[in-house]
Amino acid sequence: QYFDSMDYAPSKEDDSAARAWLAAHESRFGHFIGGRFGTPGEGFDTVEPATGKRLASVTQGSGADVDAAVAAARKAQKGWAALPGHERALKLYALARIIQRNARILSVVEALDNGKPIRETRDIDIPLAARHFYHHAGWAQLQDSQFAGYDPVGVIGQVIPWNFPFLMLAWKVAPALALGNTVVLKPAEATPLTALLFAELAQAAGLPEGVLNIVTGDGATGALIAAHDGVDKVAFTGSTEVGRKIREATAGSGKSLTLELGGKSPFIVCEDADLDAAVEGVVDAIWFNQGQVCCAGSRILVQEGVADDFHARLAARLKTLRIGTSLDKTIDMGAVIDPAQRARIAGMVDAAVAAGATLLQAEGALPDAGSFYPPTVLQDVPATCAAATEEIFGPVAVSMTFRTPEEAVQLANHSRYGLAASIWSENVNLALDLAAKVQAGIVWVNCTNVMDAGVGFGGVKESGFGREGGREGCFDYLKPRALAKAPERKPVVPAKAKGFA
Ligand code: NAD
Repeated sequence: QYFDSMDYAPSKEDDSAARAWLAAHESRFGHFIGGRFGTPGEGFDTVEPATGKRLASVTQGSGADVDAAVAAARKAQKGWAALPGHERALKLYALARIIQRNARILSVVEALDNGKPIRETRDIDIPLAARHFYHHAGWAQLQDSQFAGYDPVGVIGQVIPWNFPFLMLAWKVAPALALGNTVVLKPAEATPLTALLFAELAQAAGLPEGVLNIVTGDGATGALIAAHDGVDKVAFTGSTEVGRKIREATAGSGKSLTLELGGKSPFIVCEDADLDAAVEGVVDAIWFNQGQVCCAGSRILVQEGVADDFHARLAARLKTLRIGTSLDKTIDMGAVIDPAQRARIAGMVDAAVAAGATLLQAEGALPDAGSFYPPTVLQDVPATCAAATEEIFGPVAVSMTFRTPEEAVQLANHSRYGLAASIWSENVNLALDLAAKVQAGIVWVNCTNVMDAGVGFGGVKESGFGREGGREGCFDYLKPRALAKAPERKPVVPAKAKGFA
């Protein structure tokens, strides 16, 4: 298909269970508030990026819907927080298990709604989401011993993006619930379906009503949640631009806030690196999930002496990537989220080429329908081009060279972002030295995009603040309480009084 000369037979994942689930809801969804689905109302369609076909329609969350969801979360919060940690842990284990039992339908719905390859949802997104619930069940169990002196924050408003719809839900919901908070979550308008399916699973797993509330809608609904007086904390993942608006909206309100925002992460290839391994690293860094990854290694920095060799190997590898529709089990890359995002990516690439950048791009027909963009590397991008400095959020890396390790650090840090970095060298001393100097929330050596629920993930600079995962992530869902009690004192009895005793 994409690469004609390749012996390649598509093998399609069975989507009958996912289609049956949509049909059971007549492909129309209301919000999930207080343990129940409401009647579907005015809203919008969510479509398959790979085909452009409608999947379902969801309801645009109004002020009244957000009020109802916050009220339900508030009503449930005290009782949920009062449960002993091990009882909350049981509920989180139940959620983890029900995700695993329904991994196939979740993987298919996610791939259909987002356009990403089923191979990724099945092997990465959904198992990692289950792992987040297991991990945080552990923290719930240990809450009394590990977090003595801390209280839950209360009602948490959570707003998430479309690039990892279910995984981002798990990153947000699991720690919040584990530590005694209740949640009002808004999935991205492009990818609301796995959140709604999860609501149904949570109901089946016996999560008490009101503990988890899902309100669908666009940015206006997100803004209503962020500004709501009944929300004690806002946890947001998305663009730096919207993160800034949310920070303004919550400033001075007393709400806690964590922001997981964009990136333009450096991918540093030193001259002693294993170049084939580094090329595979690029595949994972920028073509995984069509490059729509906040921590994508989208700025390749390669040492001058090996740059030609490296780019030749990269150009050859890029031509072997298979692009297709999300349920095809043999593809490497799927569709980008929508035609608007595709046009934005193409616009940034075209502008860079017009300004003199060299284009490495696989040639060949893309699938007919849907929003597809080929894997791309831009070399010699003038520093004035948006592609050089802005997050493209597509399968496009920019590549530039450096002479010395010091210059690599300077180039790596020459960015308003600081989410992740990846360093490739066979000299571990050099790699660790660079790792300490690169400004990033997470640094990978000779690997990339390695995620674990036990490790706090988050950025520095304009990539945001706060951590998700691990012990450090738990503190973002707790508030410290200093409690002092006067020491025991014996009543002072006057000596004379004793005689009358
Ligand atoms: P986006 O900022 O456009 O939207 C994210 C969410 O915010 C959506 O649910 C949207 O409806 C909502 N929203 C929009 N306007 C809002 C407003 N004014 N108030 C409240 N909510 C509002 O981002 P996107 O395009 O969905 O996602 C891509 C971005 O997310 C990229 O920049 C990417 O780097 C970032 N991201 C970051 C991380 C991380 O952990 N740092 C992870 C994944 C994605």
